[in-house]
Amino acid sequence: MGDDGNNVTVSSFLPQLTGSFSTPAADNPTVQIMEAAYAAGNLDFRYINCDVKPEGLADAIAGAVAMGWRGFNCSLPHKVAVIPLIDGLAESASIIGAVNTVVNDDGRLTGENTDGQGFLASLREVKDPKDTRIVIFGAGGAARAIAVECALAGARAITIVNRSPERGQELAALVDSRTPADCDYRPWTSRFDVPADADVVINATSIGFGAGSTETLDVDTDSLQPHMVVADVMANPPMTVWLTAAESRGCTILTGLGMLVNQAAINGKLWTGVDLDKAVMHRELSAIFGLTQ
Ligand code: NDP
Repeated sequence: MGDDGNNVTVSSFLPQLTGSFSTPAADNPTVQIMEAAYAAGNLDFRYINCDVKPEGLADAIAGAVAMGWRGFNCSLPHKVAVIPLIDGLAESASIIGAVNTVVNDDGRLTGENTDGQGFLASLREVKDPKDTRIVIFGAGGAARAIAVECALAGARAITIVNRSPERGQELAALVDSRTPADCDYRPWTSRFDVPADADVVINATSIGFGAGSTETLDVDTDSLQPHMVVADVMANPPMTVWLTAAESRGCTILTGLGMLVNQAAINGKLWTGVDLDKAVMHRELSAIFGLTQ
């Protein structure tokens, strides 16, 4: 009870702050789903979306620390540049070499990479990654995070298929040398046949981005089999041409929406210590993307 007799304490007027530093930032919907989840959980937290240019990143971080922010996301183009500006890295972020989430523990900043963890949480809803053979299309930031997290979660073998051989070979060598999984690179110069013993097949390229996109992977979808889990990182639209083909082949499919929601939930847990309501975040994202689900 406050001095004036109201059931409000002074701390009610000082929410804990979280947010995002990126540029451009205006099309990033994370603020809306985090604020909805904080409100639904009755948490005294706020999330602020900030457009931060590369030359302003160090000052933005110093400002967040000065204001006692609990943490922040780093999105493009800051995921690598943030590393020398913080105090330490979680294991997977250190292997991946990129950070998308920072946690502030009394002034000590730790970098995490929850892109891959979000994918893994989504995968675990339908399949245990342990001892699986995984095929990943792409070798950019998303593929890197997914490959490392799946390898650390016990995947037996991972094949990286990428258009540019340098990037593909580099990722395969990284996963092979820094995790317990066997990882190889396959060139992607013509229509790709998915090996019959693959358990999980993931589009981690940017192919298929944007509502109404008809772009899809140069893969023989007849090589997809019903025992396979087929995933896409694309959140908008969630139902890509790639996933539609996989579903018609009888595969279990995973949309990028699940990865995005799980990643946001993991960030929220790191900052608040509690489980945010994923259904609220899913609903919010669906409304943003104009989906009926
Ligand atoms: P990058 O730019 O780092 O990598 C893009 C990848 O796509 C590269 O491997 C590139 O190959 C490949 N690629 C792009 N166009 C083609 C093409 N026409 N044919 C073959 N390969 C192609 O991007 P990110 O890894 O950061 O992001 C990839 C996607 O993942 C984005 O669309 C992003 O929105 C999504 N994403 C989704 C998340 C979620 O939570 N759902 C989280 C993070 C990302 P190459 O090396 O040859 O150029």
